[in-house]
Parts: sequence; structure tokens; C-alpha cells
Amino acid sequence: FATLPDLIRAHALERGDRVAVADAKGGIDYRMLDAMMDRVAAALQRDGVAPGTAVAIVAAPTTEYAAAFLGTVRAGCVATPIAPSATPAAITAMIADSGAPIVFLDAENARALEGQHLTARAVLFSREGGSPDWTLAFAGEQSFDSWLAPDGAKPIPVPITPDDAFNIIYSSGTTGTPKGIVQSHAMRWAHIARNTAAGFDTAVTMIATPLYSNTTLVSFLPTLGWGGTVVLMGKFDARAYLELAQRYRATHTMLVPVQYQRIMALPGFDDFDLSAFRFKTSTSAPFSAALKADVVARWPGVLVEFYGMTEGGASCALNATANPTKLHTVGLPMPGHEIRLIDDDGVEVAPGEMGEVVGRSPAMMNGYHGRSQATRDAEWHDADGNRYIRHGDIGRFDADGFLTLMDRKKDLIISGGFNVYPSDLEAVLAQHPAVADCAVIGVPSEAWGETPVGFYVPRAGATDEAATILAWANAQLGKTQRLAALHVADELPRSAIGKVLKRELRDTLASTPP
Ligand code: ATP
Ligand code: MG
Repeated sequence: FATLPDLIRAHALERGDRVAVADAKGGIDYRMLDAMMDRVAAALQRDGVAPGTAVAIVAAPTTEYAAAFLGTVRAGCVATPIAPSATPAAITAMIADSGAPIVFLDAENARALEGQHLTARAVLFSREGGSPDWTLAFAGEQSFDSWLAPDGAKPIPVPITPDDAFNIIYSSGTTGTPKGIVQSHAMRWAHIARNTAAGFDTAVTMIATPLYSNTTLVSFLPTLGWGGTVVLMGKFDARAYLELAQRYRATHTMLVPVQYQRIMALPGFDDFDLSAFRFKTSTSAPFSAALKADVVARWPGVLVEFYGMTEGGASCALNATANPTKLHTVGLPMPGHEIRLIDDDGVEVAPGEMGEVVGRSPAMMNGYHGRSQATRDAEWHDADGNRYIRHGDIGRFDADGFLTLMDRKKDLIISGGFNVYPSDLEAVLAQHPAVADCAVIGVPSEAWGETPVGFYVPRAGATDEAATILAWANAQLGKTQRLAALHVADELPRSAIGKVLKRELRDTLASTPP
């Protein structure tokens, strides 16, 4: 069984001077990445960190981050990248939950965590390869350079089986408390294998989302598995992204929908030379048909949207370039991926009906770290006892087998006994010329149980009043769908990877008197 670190070793031998990972400060080639991974793995072995143990990382994406992550995997340990955007207390809790004895931190995150009681020993990434220039605050902490095993060190090879854990990713907490999702080598292998036709071997892949997210890892890891180059961008900025893509003649990218939206809206977009692009992907949040059409029309290369979740289950892919009439869908289940739709009682719905997505494939999580009950709750079994993962999303297949997603089950509004899908209402609001962005949530109502309420971000220069837009939208909506109120917002609350946080919108309303 060849692991991803084994593939990287092979690239180091065959095409060692090709850049593997580049960040704002420069790049490291495959030979260097491979050597760094050895030094990380050997240092973990020296410290007695046994295979199967989590090793945490809280840092901005850099070449050091990549080497620490992949070296951890080479040692048979479990890379555990944690979101720097979480609160210090939440980060500390995730590190403790993972059981990691070591955490890699960069300067900014080390400072943010000062005063927290860390259960892991801190190893601090250094700037420019020198000694860290911030005060040492944690017991026993060390700089990355002094912690690494010496140049040329080799770890003892560790036997790895496909079911062994590769990494843990804490769920983004879009709908609840973060849980550690354990992903295996087999799952990661499936992500690499499904990209045989994607041309990653000669890719320059631009990445502008954080490395603790599966959204990023599903293009970061396959690019390295195939021997391509990854360009990591720190903070996302539409113009900086385009300049970087043009300079490196980027061929591949993974962006979330809100990033596509910001890039396409940039004045001067059409002046950038993006002719090297061959393959663009998106995942993680609803991607409007209009925006997909715009990307297909104005940005060279094929556009593919993925639908899936960190837990695995099954994924769908939509080749937007080849399917102009299916842009409102998330595409077809990928080969070897099986999706069924079930009702509230766990019974499969009739063809064409809406139901909760459950899926199975070669890419499924082992489970939630240390939470066997939550793992069982996330599963569904068919009549033959096959294990599926519940996605928590509601969808419907069309006659051609393309999946249309409605909403997350937790966001569904039940008003007067009727199911109201926020996405239907959002689609109407989005058509108003004064609306740049919008979201609909359900709020408690004495008369109806729940009732829909909207939020919108006005388009620059638009003068329409909220009341006018509300009346306009309600005139087009069914009786049970009508919005009880429409609020103006400067911006919708989003997670670090661009998902609208509906629970925060609910909190806003709960905390403001009517
Ligand atoms: P949590 O589980 O903590 O609430 P999360 O579900 O947002 O967080 P992820 O595993 O990153 O964490 O996201 C998976 C979810 O993202 C899917 O269940 C779906 O709701 C949404 N999603 C993914 N891809 C798409 C897509 N192409 N279109 C619309 N929604 C998508
Ligand atoms: Mg989820």
C-alpha cells in the first residue's frame, strides 16, 4: 500500500527539482519537501510520539505547514489542522480533544493562544528560517528549526494500512459544536485516484482557502499526489489572487463560491491573462447558476463543482462547462458513489421526491474522534446492512439523475405544517436588482410555529427600500412562503471558508428587541 508520503518520495526521486509547494516567501521543491518530511517524522519518533497519535497545527498556510502536516503523516501520526479563526478557547479545546502531545503554531497564533492552558507542547514555526521573534510563552516550547531532526535524518519506516487515520478535521461548526472527523489513508487515496483525468501531474494549483478545511485538502493533496505544484495564498484578496495566478501561469484552482463572486465582480477581471487555466473547482456552499455561467463564459478552463462533506459519504460532481442546462444542480454522483434520499422515518422516498441525502463510497470517514454515539447517529443502513453517511442536506434527483440541493435539514422552516425551503426564497430575493447577497432563516412564530425572515446586502448604489423589496418578493412567493420581515445587513456572517452562518443570523434576531 503506497501512502501519499510514498508518492511524494517517488516525485522527489523522479522530478526532485520541481516546485512542490510555494507560498508568499518562495517555494520548496519535491526533494526539499521530502527531506523536510523525513526530518519532521524523525523528530516525532525521537520524541516518542507513537503512530496513530494526533499532532495538531494552528497556523497560516505556508511551506512549513505543508512539511509539518505531511511529515506527521509519514510518521504514521494523524495530522490535525485546526482553524486559526476559531476562538482561543475553542482551539485549546480542539487540541485537547484530539489528544495531540505536540502543536505546531505560527507567531500570530502563538500570540493569540497566550494565556490558554495548552495540553500539547508548542513547536513554533519560525519566520524566514531564523529564530522566532516573539516571546516564548508556553512551557517546553521550541522553535521548529531547533525541534526538527538534523538535516539528512531518516525516520524508521512505519507500516501503514489503508484504514489507518491520515488526518482529523474538526467540522466547521456551521450547524453545531466542532467534532473531529477522522479520515483514513484509504479516503485520501480515493481523492487522489478520482483525479486521474484532472491533469494534476503538470498542474500549478492556486489555493486561497485554509489548509484545515477539507475543501482545500481535496485539491492540495491530489496535486501533490500527482506531482504538481501548489501555490498557497495567505489572506484571500481578489486582485492579489488574479495577479498571482497570472504570474505563475496557474492551471488549476479550488475556490469557494464567494471567492468566485468577488473575483468575477472585480473591475478589470477580463484584462488578466488566465489562458493557462485548465481546471477550476468549487465546493462547500451553494454556487448560483448565474455565477457558474459567468465563470464558464469569462474564465478559461473547465469548471467543475463538487458536492460532498468532510465526513465523506458520497460526492457529486457537475461539469458546468459541459452541462449548461444543469447549472442549478450539483451534478451526478461520482463513479463508485451511491446516494439515496430518505424521509424523516429513514425510509427511502419515491423517485423524484425530496429527501435527506445519505451516501456511501470508498471515501468515508472512520468516524468522529472519541464520539461513538455521534458516529452512529451520522449513519444510515440499507436493507442489506450497507453503511451510509447522513449528509443532513435535503435534495432531489431530476429525470437525468442530477441532484438539486434544497437546504440543510436543520435550516428547513416548518410554517403552519408546510415545509418552506429557505433556498426557494433566497432564489427569489437574489433576482431583485438591489440585492447583492441574501439569506433566509426561520424564526419562532406563535401563529405558525416558524416563519421565514430574510436578510439582504444592498447592491452598491441601489436606492430601493427594504419594504419595497419585501413586497416585491412576497408578491412572487406562495402564501406559506411569504417573508414576515426583511432586514438590511452590511454583510452576511460567513465562516472562514465562505459559508453563511445561519445560526449567527438567528442569534442576531434573538438578541435584538423587535
Ligand atoms: P458542520 O458539519 O460542522 O455543521 P459543515 O457541514 O459546513 O459544518 P463541511 O463538511 O465542510 O462542514 O461541509 C459540508 C456541507 O457543505 C454539505 O453538507 C453541504 O451542506 C454544503 N455543501 C458542500 N458542497 C456544496 C455544494 N456544491 N453546493 C451547496 N452546498 C454544498
Ligand atoms: Mg456537516
